[in-house]
This record gives sequence, C-alpha cells and structure tokens, in this order.
Amino acid sequence: MRIKISKITENNIDTILTVMGWIKSSRTSKNFSFIELNDGSCFNSLQIIIDANINNYENIITKLSTGASISVAGKLVKSPGKEQSFELQAQTIEILGECDPEKYPLQKKKHSFEFLREIAHLRARTNTFGAVARVRSALAFATHQFFQDNGFLYIHTPIITAADCEGAGEMFKVTTLDLEKLPKTDKNNVDYTKDFFEKPAFLTVSGQLEGETYACALSDIYTFGPTFRAENSNTSRHLAEFWMIEPEMAFADIYNNMDCAENYIKYCLKYVLEKCPQDMNFFNKFIKPGIIDKLNNVINSPFERLEYTKAIDILKKAPKKFEYNVEWGTDLQSEHERYLAEEYFKKPVILYNYPAHIKAFYMRQNDDGKTVAAMDILVEGIGEIIGGSQREERLDILEAKMDKMGLDKNSYWWYLELRKYGSVKHAGFGLGFERLIQFVTGMENIRDVIAYPRFPGHCDF
Ligand code: ATP
Ligand code: MN
Repeated sequence: MRIKISKITENNIDTILTVMGWIKSSRTSKNFSFIELNDGSCFNSLQIIIDANINNYENIITKLSTGASISVAGKLVKSPGKEQSFELQAQTIEILGECDPEKYPLQKKKHSFEFLREIAHLRARTNTFGAVARVRSALAFATHQFFQDNGFLYIHTPIITAADCEGAGEMFKVTTLDLEKLPKTDKNNVDYTKDFFEKPAFLTVSGQLEGETYACALSDIYTFGPTFRAENSNTSRHLAEFWMIEPEMAFADIYNNMDCAENYIKYCLKYVLEKCPQDMNFFNKFIKPGIIDKLNNVINSPFERLEYTKAIDILKKAPKKFEYNVEWGTDLQSEHERYLAEEYFKKPVILYNYPAHIKAFYMRQNDDGKTVAAMDILVEGIGEIIGGSQREERLDILEAKMDKMGLDKNSYWWYLELRKYGSVKHAGFGLGFERLIQFVTGMENIRDVIAYPRFPGHCDF
C-alpha cells in the first residue's frame, strides 16, 4: 500500500514502504543514484537511494529525470546526511510516467514568478507554489474551524444575483442573449425580459446582503465563496475572481465586529504556524525573511484601533511624501493604509468611523451625522485586508440614505423588509482570502496565491 511522504515518521524505520511521486532532482551514476521524490503531501521530499544491484538498473536510471513520476518500494533507514533524518533504500522502481528533460519547462534553475504564471498548470510542482497551496488549504480549514467553534452557521449565498451590493458598477454581467443580435425595446434599449432571468443579472461582488437576511434569523453566519469584480485594477492586490469570507452577526455592534475580526485573523495565523511549519520555514527563508517573527508579533499584541479622523491627522503630519494628498473626507489610498500599519503603528490597524459619503449605503450612520460605523483592517505589505461595518438597522434612516445616493429602493425591497420585521442591530465584514494568504506567506503578488488568477486580459487555463 502506498504511504504519503507526509505520513512517514521514525516509526517506519526498518519497514518496507511504497511511495509515489514526482522526481524533484536526481543524481545518477554507475554504482548508485540519489533521487529527491516529492508527492506534494508536505514540503519535504524523500531521499531515495538506488543501488546498482537492483533489477534493471541500467535501464531505469536513464528514465529518472526531473518531473518523471515513479513508484518506489524499499526499506526506510536512518539517514547519515544532516538534511533529512531518514531515506528510502529502493528495492523496486516502477516508472509511471516519463518526462523528457529536454522539453520539461520546469528546469532545476530558479524561475521567475512571471514565467511560472505562464505555466500555471505545472507551477504547483515548485517549492513555492506547493507551499502556497498547502497554506491556502490550511487557512480555509482554519476559517471553518474558527467560525464553527464560535457557533456561526456556514451559508451559501448565490453567485448569480440581480442585487448590486455596493450600489456601484464593476460587475460581470450574466446573460444568454446573443450579443451579436440583441433584442431591443421600443425605446431601443436592450430588452432584458428576453434574457434568461428576464432581467439583468450579474456575478456577485459580495454575499453580504443575503448574508444579513440569514443573520437576522440565525444570529451568526458566515459565507466563504467566490466573488467577482470587473474592476480594471492591475495591482498586486486585486483579482477579478477571488474568494471572500463574510461573517455577519446579529445583536452585534461595530466593536463586537472588530473583536471577531481580530480574533479570526489571529486564529488563522496561529493555525498555520502550528500546522504548516515546513512551508512557513520556507517562506521565512526564501520569500519574506522574518515573516514568522512578524506573524508572532501580530498574534501577541492587540491591533491598533483608530478613528478615521485621527488617522487623517497622523497622515497630514507624516514626514513621508505621499503620491495622493489626504484631507478629511478623502478615501485612503493603499500608500496611506500601508504607512499607518507598516511605519507608524508597526502592527495591524483597525480604522473606523469613516466619512459617510465614501462608504456604502448600508453602513450605520453615527450620531455626529457625518460618519458611519465602518471599519477597515489594514496590515503591513497589503493595506486593506478587511472591510466591514455595523449595518443601518433603522428603516427611515436607511431609506433616506438610499434616496440620497440615488438607489432604487424597489430592487432592495427584501433588504428593507429586514428593517420592518423585527429589526436588530447587526454587523459583519468581508475578508479577501487571497490577501490573507499574501499576509501569511509574504507572497508579493496576489496572482501567485490562487491557482489560476483571473485579471484584466487574463483568463487562461
Ligand atoms: P480595495 O479598496 O482594496 O479595492 P474594497 O474596499 O473595494 O478593496 P471591499 O468591498 O471592502 O473591498 O471588500 C472586502 C474585502 O475583499 C477587502 O478588504 C479585500 O480584502 C477583498 N477584496 C476586495 N476587492 C478585491 C479584489 N479585486 N481582489 C481580491 N480581494 C479583494
Ligand atoms: Mn473596503
């Protein structure tokens, strides 16, 4: 029976094991050969020693090239080398799939991340992308564990929706209409009654509005699913398709929201440091030196909580020259967010009470009449990782706000009904999963923490 490399321990020494995987590297000679075999179950490869007296040695060693897949049975022994504590002495080797070393795109040399994006179907075989995939999986598990342990229900909100969460554009349209021959109304507009849903439909930009309806029945819920934004942002923090985690809590205010977000992030960091030590050591050594210490600092100190108005004061007095000016009322750019988290406070910052006019319609109006109970969490290297708010639960204020922003109240009728029938204060936030992975791994570009990134001009594989 096959054993995965991650499961092999000292207890297996002196027993016969069968492993299967892909050759990371090999050194062959007339008398014996070495192979580094990786099966992706963990960062470390298993060293295989092949003695020339095994069956068919001459023939086999010609096929032991990097990238080839093999099955090896042999005896696990203590390793004399200091790189690993054990190694496998091969008794039989079966070549499962050969790999032409002349053509294999993943050569032993170090490839740039840009190049690897072009061969995204093979990049999971590299150290970096294998480690990213394992950390990503661990973070997804940690997310469910955290919310489930805290009594949140996992809700699946729709991916196709007619509701535009932000009241802004930037959505992908979903249609079965023939774009070459669009049906038109008398007024020469597109006749959406002929479309699949008989009205315009989109890929969701957030599950929040639907999430609120379930929180206002089940108390605490979270969503964790794909999210789409057709924004033309060619940055290292934006994707057109990303995954978002959106908890929503009834009977909660903005401070409960901050506590939940801070505890959740800390839980995720602890989880990964504990469960993925080999991968994290790799990131610490080769991707972002010092990242493990930094994550431990984040875990061990409270996040800074700061009102927007105070942040503007700090930014205006900053010795640093920013590309964009800040004034009370302007939205912060990534450079401002990063200055606060990286240079000024040197830890994650929860910024809250933003000016109402730069935030979405559903955020709860504060008593000053100028600000809303919004909160963003800003972290080193990235800027915003979380955006959230206490929601406006007062029907009259919400309706007035929607009128002021020119939103069509009819299309939000169900959302407004929550405020008519047993309205309660509630709050929630959205965390971009890929930004969390960037934060944990130190990977600079968001395109390298998702298997197949979608961004303007790119929808390959
Ligand atoms: P930004 O200002 O960075 O564009 P946003 O304010 O538009 O983000 P929100 O609408 O608040 O983002 O979404 C909640 C979270 O989802 C963000 O804090 C971020 O972590 C993540 N997010 C938003 N847009 C994207 C994107 N295009 N790609 C990846 N993650 C995103
Ligand atoms: Mn935001």
